[in-house]
Amino acid sequence: MAECIFCSIGKRQTPAQMLFQDDLCFVIRDINPAAPIHLLVIPNQHVTSLANLKSDQESLVGHLFSTAHEMARREGVTDTGFRLVVNQGRNAGQHVDHLHLHVLGGKRLPALG
Ligand code: 5GP
Ligand code: ZN
Repeated sequence: MAECIFCSIGKRQTPAQMLFQDDLCFVIRDINPAAPIHLLVIPNQHVTSLANLKSDQESLVGHLFSTAHEMARREGVTDTGFRLVVNQGRNAGQHVDHLHLHVLGGKRLPALG
């Protein structure tokens, strides 16, 4: 089985501009940005999706959110606003089966409904 692209980037086997990394997660720019600021906050550990998160990994989700907020601050979009998105499963358009949080900002984003 081919290795997961996000695991490979996290282990620095596939080159990417690493904006941030700590013991739990790392942050890269999306290769196909949907907004001027489009970051991905990704756990170092391979978690397939929210649906496969174990109960002792709840704090990891909190860490992904606080990292997303810190990165939005660094990118200068906390005042203008930003959006956090998790695509869970096929109907939501999840393409990479390794949990990740999208951070979108830098323009007026389309309304959800
Ligand atoms: P999903 O559709 O699974 O929620 O989001 C996956 C995202 O990862 C997509 O927005 C896609 O553009 C991005 N992506 C896929 N492969 C790579 C890659 O190799 N490098 C980077 N930086 N982003 C990637
Ligand atoms: Zn992975």
